[in-house]
Amino acid sequence: MDFFEYRDRELYCEDVPVRELAERFGTPLWVYSARTVLHHYGQVQEAFAEAEPIICYSVKANSNLAILHLMAQHGSGFDVVSGGEIYRVLLAGGDPRRTVFAGVGKSPAEIAYAIDQDLLLLEVESEEEAEVIREIAAEKQKAVSVAIRVNPDVDPKTHRYITTGKKESKFGLDLERAAALADRLRGDRWVQLHGLHMHIGSQITDPSAYGRAAARVADLALDLKKMGHDIRWLNTGGGFGIHYRGQEGRPAEEFAAVILPHVRRCGCRLLLEPGRFIVGNAGILVSRVLFRKEAGDRRFLIQDAAMNDLVRPSLYQAFHRIWPVVVPPGLPAPPTDYESDIPGTVRWDVVGPVCETGDFLALDRPLPRLDRGDLLATFSAGAYGMVMSSNYNSRPRGAEVLVEGSSFRLVRRRETYEDLVRAELEADAIPHPAASS
Ligand SMILES: *Cc1c(COP(=O)(O)O)cnc(C)c1O
Repeated sequence: MDFFEYRDRELYCEDVPVRELAERFGTPLWVYSARTVLHHYGQVQEAFAEAEPIICYSVKANSNLAILHLMAQHGSGFDVVSGGEIYRVLLAGGDPRRTVFAGVGKSPAEIAYAIDQDLLLLEVESEEEAEVIREIAAEKQKAVSVAIRVNPDVDPKTHRYITTGKKESKFGLDLERAAALADRLRGDRWVQLHGLHMHIGSQITDPSAYGRAAARVADLALDLKKMGHDIRWLNTGGGFGIHYRGQEGRPAEEFAAVILPHVRRCGCRLLLEPGRFIVGNAGILVSRVLFRKEAGDRRFLIQDAAMNDLVRPSLYQAFHRIWPVVVPPGLPAPPTDYESDIPGTVRWDVVGPVCETGDFLALDRPLPRLDRGDLLATFSAGAYGMVMSSNYNSRPRGAEVLVEGSSFRLVRRRETYEDLVRAELEADAIPHPAASS
């Protein structure tokens, strides 16, 4: 469910024609629907209502301040994985007391920052990290609430790059090590164990993986409580899958159905960290066709968005639906099913200008006839899109627009050539008579 739809063969984001946004702000352009963000947030709230969870939106999925501010205004907490994300949450008016900090490699400066800002929980991922937190907390004479990130050793059957809860993963501690660390933290004045955390992966479309994982973590919580630990929080992480190709995402209720019994059983308060589920279907990437050409038996559609803008296809072989923003009369409606042949289409490799063979948004993809200058929409690009973009090939990043009903605003301007060199210290030292832009 999202608020992107074709009206009279033209794509709208809520009540705004996407073509008008592209004409006004140029391409590549990220277009986000506030209504879609809030719709998904509401779905999670509703499905898990009985546990009264704190929903900690996972900042890394889409960290634009306007998105964070929108979430903060609606009472969301935040899940952060770096000092930079803490900074963003604070700038956006987020509540640090509803913010949790995960990550296998927190630097001493990041730990100090988190302690100074009174975050709700630091999610400890190793014994050595617990030591460093203790040293810093003791120095500051300030007790810190932590949760241990447990690796429950389940395979959620998603892409191996986004599987995080198997035994051989770098994240968290296995159940025995977690129990041993809890033991060592007993009665610790500075590092106070108040929760357990798990995050088993991303784009998970099989809810049963959560049932298996939450069962193990809830068992551990009960054991630790019996031993006198004050385990208040059970954080079951993020990872709920969304629609990319068809209807593969599952409703929030299906995840709630397997998670809630374990929350009830261990008597903890629930924390959730959805990222992709909130913003994934709330964004599209709009690009413009530059050239078409053929090579051997392949047909290339060269457009102005590339792997530096949206890396998921190149990095994970991820599938994103792509369709023209304006569909000429007599041409097919956007597909809801890629399994069968789509009449009126031919197959294209949709590629970008970056100098890498791995630079593509889609391979062998059915699309209707397209001309130079036509606009394309790449769907489900709201999560892990702009945030993973780079300036590779010295390409300025695209602009971001947030739509709310029939109004819209630019929430990140397009980068300029000057932006590309802003942090380079020699930029002013070298005479550059020819480089004026
Ligand atoms: C990335 C991440 C999330 C969010 O994952 P989604 O798949 O976007 O829901 C939640 N928790 C932690 C610890 C993460 O690293």
